[in-house]
Amino acid sequence: MANEFAARTSVEQVEEGAELAPKFDADGLIAAVTTDAVSGELLMVGYMNPEALRKTIETGEAHYWSRSRQVLWHKGATSGLVQRVTELMIDDDQDCVWLKVDVAGGASCHVGYRTCFYRRIPLGYGAQALEFTETTKVFDPQVVYGDVPNPTKL
Ligand SMILES: [Zn+2]
Repeated sequence: MANEFAARTSVEQVEEGAELAPKFDADGLIAAVTTDAVSGELLMVGYMNPEALRKTIETGEAHYWSRSRQVLWHKGATSGLVQRVTELMIDDDQDCVWLKVDVAGGASCHVGYRTCFYRRIPLGYGAQALEFTETTKVFDPQVVYGDVPNPTKL
């Protein structure tokens, strides 16, 4: 689908104007960060193509572009864990959007955790084990997804 948003004509237009003129990268994607509308917690980082951004705006539900599966991805279509957008922000140079969402079911991560960021990388020299910041899953992915292949591509 073509980029149906405003053409980017000047720095002033992009940074100071009221026109939505998002910048999609060489792959036709824009980064999307998603936080919990209530707690402010970072839930996930994803990507959108123009169609995903348009559908997110029009439906008020988060749509992404799945880079691993190469498909438009209506978040929660399979799991029921839909992200209802309460506010949609775009950054200064319009190359990143920020979704504030209410998550049906309280989990955003396909692994079953509340957020995709459930492990901390210890700081300092030398390889150390990742530290889990979430210890219990909100749901069992096996039960929710059944035979659907794991979207993480190794
Ligand atoms: Zn995840």
